[in-house]
Amino acid sequence: MRTLLTALAASTILAGAAQATAVYPLDRATILVSSPFDFKVELDAVHPEADISVTVNGKPYAETFGTAAEYVAEEKGADDAVLGSALILRDLALAEPGSYTVEVKAGDETKTVTWEVYTTPETPKAKNIIFFLGDGLSVAHRTAARIMSQGMTEGKADGRLAMDDLDHMAFIGTSSTHSIATDSANTMSAYMTGHKSRVNALGVYADRTAPTQDDPRVETIAEALRRTTGKSIGVVTTSELEDATPAAVVSHTRKRSDKADIVGMFYDIQPEVMLGGGSAYFLKSDIPGSKRKDDKDYVAMFREAGYTLATSAAELDAARGSNSGKLLGLFHTGNMDTKLDRSFLHQGSVGKFPDQPGLVEMTRTALDELSKNEDGFFLMVEGASIDKMSHPMDWDRAVIDTIEFDQAVAAARAFAETHPDTLIVVTGDHTHGVSVIGTIDDDKPGDEMREKVGTYDDAGFPTYTDADGDGYPDKIDVSRRLAIFSSNFPDYYETWAPKMDGPFEPSVKNEKGEYVANEAYKDLPGAVLRIGNLPKSADTAVHAVDDVVLQATGPGAEAFKGYMEQSDVYKVLADAFALGTVQK
Ligand SMILES: [Zn+2]
Repeated sequence: MRTLLTALAASTILAGAAQATAVYPLDRATILVSSPFDFKVELDAVHPEADISVTVNGKPYAETFGTAAEYVAEEKGADDAVLGSALILRDLALAEPGSYTVEVKAGDETKTVTWEVYTTPETPKAKNIIFFLGDGLSVAHRTAARIMSQGMTEGKADGRLAMDDLDHMAFIGTSSTHSIATDSANTMSAYMTGHKSRVNALGVYADRTAPTQDDPRVETIAEALRRTTGKSIGVVTTSELEDATPAAVVSHTRKRSDKADIVGMFYDIQPEVMLGGGSAYFLKSDIPGSKRKDDKDYVAMFREAGYTLATSAAELDAARGSNSGKLLGLFHTGNMDTKLDRSFLHQGSVGKFPDQPGLVEMTRTALDELSKNEDGFFLMVEGASIDKMSHPMDWDRAVIDTIEFDQAVAAARAFAETHPDTLIVVTGDHTHGVSVIGTIDDDKPGDEMREKVGTYDDAGFPTYTDADGDGYPDKIDVSRRLAIFSSNFPDYYETWAPKMDGPFEPSVKNEKGEYVANEAYKDLPGAVLRIGNLPKSADTAVHAVDDVVLQATGPGAEAFKGYMEQSDVYKVLADAFALGTVQK
């Protein structure tokens, strides 16, 4: 028994220490023709250069790639341990479509990968693409948003969401290259580059070395647009502009938290319209509120580059007529507040940032500006707080933000009515483990709140109203409201009611560094302690591995169908814009 355990322990240690031979891009990568990417071979041992053989479709690789890779005799790990030899070839581009089988041999190490290099039709199908990303958008968010916003009578919805009527649909697999689970960096990066990657990575394959910005790069859609078209680029979000989702449009880093550098990556691309939060990383270090550690003043740099700056809804409105063609809106030092707080409850940080524009206004302004370009545009719009409020299980804030996201989709559909050469895509990056299971009815007898949860026939219909017809419920704390629960959670107090005083903070750190239920909610009427089913290192609910639903309409949308990998979506965007044929 002891021998077996020792052997098991030894093999575990070996498996932990040993890196498999790796080739980037990974096997089954699909690569847009002529799009630059970095090729890297990671060997598990040190090999003299002469002992390393790399062929492409049976011929020495340099014949196909046109140039030799840099040989690194000994790549070092974080603890200076030697990881093995490597070959790196930056900015490779393959101009011939077809199948490329790369075979690596060095000593007893072998690795074979096959890539598919694809072209696109020569004629673009669409002039504009509007790509809507509901962060964490799951089926339950949509169902809850439809019921809360439109109501339901005798089992039929009294109205529809704008996203309900997009005519093409696909299920999207969101898993990352090293795990079935995923985050907002690698998921959005797969949409925006056509390559899957590892959790936390943007625009790169995650290699084995410690530096975060030397990893093998792939081209972002923003770079492809600059390389092959004269189109304008817009990025609109309710999060920090340098947060993972908007960052994925332009960035290359292994670590999404490289936020100060990500602002520099936006500066390199200079999207014509950038609207969101996150000014703390644009301001130089000596300005109060700055999170930079250097003296780069990106607000000044963008201004010098011709951008009109807006820091409030009023300034954004004024900037619409400025006609500079370049617009930078920074409406918060961090993430913008939720729609529920901005427009209805005035909680969160709304006291400090009282005039934040909404996602609908930002989307409309971006469309006004970008549509001035006769070559067309690519606009990414993110509803960020759907995710940011689903983590702490603040379902009212997450669902109200889903309604706001849907109203931004409605604004895009109105634009597409007069601009039918526009492809609209609406999707999430990953899901949450969330479900609507019925209602919670305060008027049921008793004190125990769990007895007031209505299921099956007993759930009936919630009592939200929308007297002013703005698409938002007049009140969220109605007596019979939606019962929405998470499948996964840290220890927390379930209070069965909307959080009227500001976003929910379900758990807090104890002296041991573990997350425990936040006692601030302990004495609320009916609150019950739920013991978590996640590791105690989790402070909130986590992402689900469940598929995302993508919907689309407009020219090119017919390519969305069945099950698709997240990285396959990029090919549809590239096809719509004919990025695989050089037009410039
Ligand atoms: Zn998330």
